[in-house]
Amino acid sequence: MDETTTKTLQQVLADAGAYQGAIDGIRRPASDAAVDAMLEARAAELPEEISTWPSGRRAVACLQLGCRDHEIEVGPIDGLWGPQTDFAADVLTEFFETGALPGPWRDQPVSEVNPNRWPPETRLRDVFGPPGEAPLVIVPCPWRLRLSWDPETVVSGISCHERVSESLQRVLQQVYDHYGEDRLYTLGLDRYGGCFNRRRKRGGTSWSTHAWGIAIDWDPDRNKLRWARDRARLARPEYDAWWGIWEEEGWVSLGRSRNFDWMHVQAAKL
Ligand SMILES: [Zn+2]
Repeated sequence: MDETTTKTLQQVLADAGAYQGAIDGIRRPASDAAVDAMLEARAAELPEEISTWPSGRRAVACLQLGCRDHEIEVGPIDGLWGPQTDFAADVLTEFFETGALPGPWRDQPVSEVNPNRWPPETRLRDVFGPPGEAPLVIVPCPWRLRLSWDPETVVSGISCHERVSESLQRVLQQVYDHYGEDRLYTLGLDRYGGCFNRRRKRGGTSWSTHAWGIAIDWDPDRNKLRWARDRARLARPEYDAWWGIWEEEGWVSLGRSRNFDWMHVQAAKL
């Protein structure tokens, strides 16, 4: 059990009144004792042979009970770490971290408008020039941006292709007007993940839209490349307005369109 999962287990045990120690992800004898106490209290819901299970399996059973208590589908309480338990434990972790379960899958009406005539990805050279050599301008952001991987570093603005700068400026201003500064920080929209970057697509050979300075990444730590809408922070309903503002300017969210790389928004059509 990794540190994050151990932390979630500790929270389950604490909620059950079986554990008073720190919720810090460090496994201690006190958590083993708490596992025993919780399983004993819930014995009526459990198979009899649970007393013969090794301690790791008993700990997983507690985690499964915690999922069930929060109405997260976890299957039978068998103490085994299969894909269903893995997924359910992730959801429970998110619940403990954010106070909310991930929203149900929603069919997203993705806007097709294109007022700035952003080109399809196949025509980027024609419109934006050769990759890696974008004429860059810095668009200031109305709220304070920090580098997501180095939050101490405040970013003066977004360095992007000049052809997209005016649109970007309008988007940022509208976002600011809609959410207000404090809420933007709460939403983590001050965690900037970069724009211009002379690189290829991850795991691919073609140029990334970042190589033209026409794509921006937001809060990459909580919107990892392979994460789908059940995990990505930016898939939640409180970001609908955020995406709506981008889409009115014709920008494309890979998350909203393809359900991966939720951090990424680009001035190019798919
Ligand atoms: Zn990106």
